[in-house]
Amino acid sequence: MFFKTIDFSKYSSIKIGQPTQVLMLEEGDEMPSDRYLIGGANNLLVSPTPPPLMMLSKDFATITQEESILTIGAAMPTGRIVSHAKKHNIAGFEFCSKLPGTLGGMLAMNAGVKEYEIFNILHSIKINAKWILAQDIAHGYRFAKLEGIATHARFEIQNGFNQELLDDLLNLRSNQPHEPSAGSAFKNPEGDYAGRLIESVGLKGARKGQMQWSTMHANFLVNLGGGTFEDAKSLIDLAKSEVLNMFNIALIEEIKIL
Ligand SMILES: Cc1cc2nc3c(=O)[nH]c(=O)nc-3n(C[C@H](O)[C@H](O)[C@H](O)COP(=O)(O)OP(=O)(O)OC[C@H]3O[C@@H](n4cnc5c(N)ncnc54)[C@H](O)[C@@H]3O)c2cc1C
Repeated sequence: MFFKTIDFSKYSSIKIGQPTQVLMLEEGDEMPSDRYLIGGANNLLVSPTPPPLMMLSKDFATITQEESILTIGAAMPTGRIVSHAKKHNIAGFEFCSKLPGTLGGMLAMNAGVKEYEIFNILHSIKINAKWILAQDIAHGYRFAKLEGIATHARFEIQNGFNQELLDDLLNLRSNQPHEPSAGSAFKNPEGDYAGRLIESVGLKGARKGQMQWSTMHANFLVNLGGGTFEDAKSLIDLAKSEVLNMFNIALIEEIKIL
């Protein structure tokens, strides 16, 4: 293992944070239990005082294919997974396109688009050096109970990369904000949409400093350039309290605040 300085104002998708020492884990390392693991920081809001952080090094950015089993390292970026699937005519990974991050982040968030979620195609995950079947891991909408660091995952190969599905999903993305964000700030409450609720309480387009509830998609907290953690957090808290007051619905963050 070794330390690397990561500047979260550049590395994180929402472009907030500061240069921070992150412990990089290499193959064969003992996995520490006293640090918070990050992946590609596409779902994170890093405060000025984050907990001690760690990250899987490129040792875990691997893809191996043996007969009908695809084994992918948790540091592998989603874009490269989609390219591999396309090149080898493998079905199931189309939705990972334009879903920024690493496989580890996808597993921990049960990331997905519409009805497509990573757990739907997952065979098993290697956590703390033990393979665990997907069906034995509690998971749901944007949630999976991983008890430790996921280093690898296995998928049973189904043939037939679906370019049409990929194109449809890419089209779906065209109405997303282009400014830096961490994707959806809140999970959708059962039977409703966080974006609709934020819009209904009049916060669509609301600004604090350089942070804004997007005018394109109210559940995206966007950074207009130089936005701060404090401004982001204050808009999150405001949306939560307004939605609670008006609709008696407690919004739950999808973004992880560190
Ligand atoms: C523009 C934009 C659009 C997005 N659209 C979507 C979308 O449509 N659907 C969707 O689901 N998400 C979406 N997201 C959110 C994000 O892409 C996903 O949550 C992604 O899976 C995060 O991956 P990451 O590697 O960046 O994880 P990080 O943000 O670094 O971490 C997320 C969580 O995963 C945990 N984690 C990371 N690696 C591991 C590991 N190896 N083992 C155990 N836990 C781990 C972290 O501890 C943290 O709790 C979007 C984000 C952006 C910026």
